[in-house]
Amino acid sequence: MSHILVTRSSMPDFDEYIEEIKEMWETHWLTNMGPKHKELEKQLKDYLDLEYMDMFTNGHMALELSLQALNLKGEVITTPFTFASTTHAIVRNGLEPVFCDVDPITFTIDTNKIESLITDKTCAIMPVHVYGNVCNIEEIERIAKKYDLKVIYDAAHTFGVKYKGKGIGSYGDVSCFSFHATKVFNTIEGGCACFHDADFGKKLYKLKNFGIKGPEVVDGIGANAKMNEFCAAMGLCNLRHVNEEIAKRKKVVERYMYRLKNVNGLQFNPIQKDVTPNYAYFPVFFNEKLFGTTRNEVFEELAKNGIGARKYFYPLTNTFDCFHGKYDVNETPVALHLSKRVLTLPLYADLSMENVDRICEVIIELYKKGKTND
Ligand SMILES: *Cc1c(COP(=O)(O)O)cnc(C)c1O
Repeated sequence: MSHILVTRSSMPDFDEYIEEIKEMWETHWLTNMGPKHKELEKQLKDYLDLEYMDMFTNGHMALELSLQALNLKGEVITTPFTFASTTHAIVRNGLEPVFCDVDPITFTIDTNKIESLITDKTCAIMPVHVYGNVCNIEEIERIAKKYDLKVIYDAAHTFGVKYKGKGIGSYGDVSCFSFHATKVFNTIEGGCACFHDADFGKKLYKLKNFGIKGPEVVDGIGANAKMNEFCAAMGLCNLRHVNEEIAKRKKVVERYMYRLKNVNGLQFNPIQKDVTPNYAYFPVFFNEKLFGTTRNEVFEELAKNGIGARKYFYPLTNTFDCFHGKYDVNETPVALHLSKRVLTLPLYADLSMENVDRICEVIIELYKKGKTND
């Protein structure tokens, strides 16, 4: 039986990519905001419905340098139910993460719990649109305005998602997408920051290019986080097919939902009002009492059957070894509960219906066994 991986990167046909990079053998322009970079930037601004954006080597550098360009000091309210990148972007800027719990239905920041965490040191909120689910944007905006806080969205999971007809990247002071190989849209490695303030954009640009202002002027202390032309070319190819890819992902998710509809004790992504989803992930939360088997046992059984699932997100970032005992995980009980029960199941555009059925059959068999054990 063939192995089913949890994800598989979208790629254009070989010939399409070769065609896209061909002229680089004439121009010899490989990086530093060349023609492919410019063209991808233009097309993405259009596709994602953005005012301003800048592209980076990866989504993490977009987040980390955005925080730096905002010149923040003090505490940033965020969630631990996320990928390492979110928390590390905060800490690597010398800022203090303050962990807010998440909502049990959308898995995004619980906006009822933000205000009690605000102190005179709070400078920003950094929420995550987890699994492509949209945060409570109105409430976050209201709180940010009331306390004069910046909002930086980790939008790594929400490529192409729309909220109330607007591109998700247009919310907050900054929103950052990831174009990593495993995401809905990829440039192999890559990412972008979306924003509304042209001056902020200039600062950000300098941070990704050594602080260089002009040929003889370096007036900032910048890093190097530029996207190269091969990555931009991959993006141009993948962008041509992304709508099709999202439509195929939708079919996979619908098949999962159809096959698993009679199994008790499973929780899935919510269907959100005013949201055009992108089917980025298929998380399943296993309730041991109702389903009869623990998440870890399901993980093992899938592995035995050659099926890769991922404990995503587990462990919570506020329990990482690198923070050894610095944070109290009991302050985010919902996130802790979710992280112990979640598996993201395989999901990518070309996952066949036969393979979805194979995965579901393993889960259904476990469910039946769990019930007879009762
Ligand atoms: C992928 C991801 C990132 C980082 O993106 P890279 O492009 O891999 O650097 C940040 N946050 C979340 C939630 C992610 O899933």
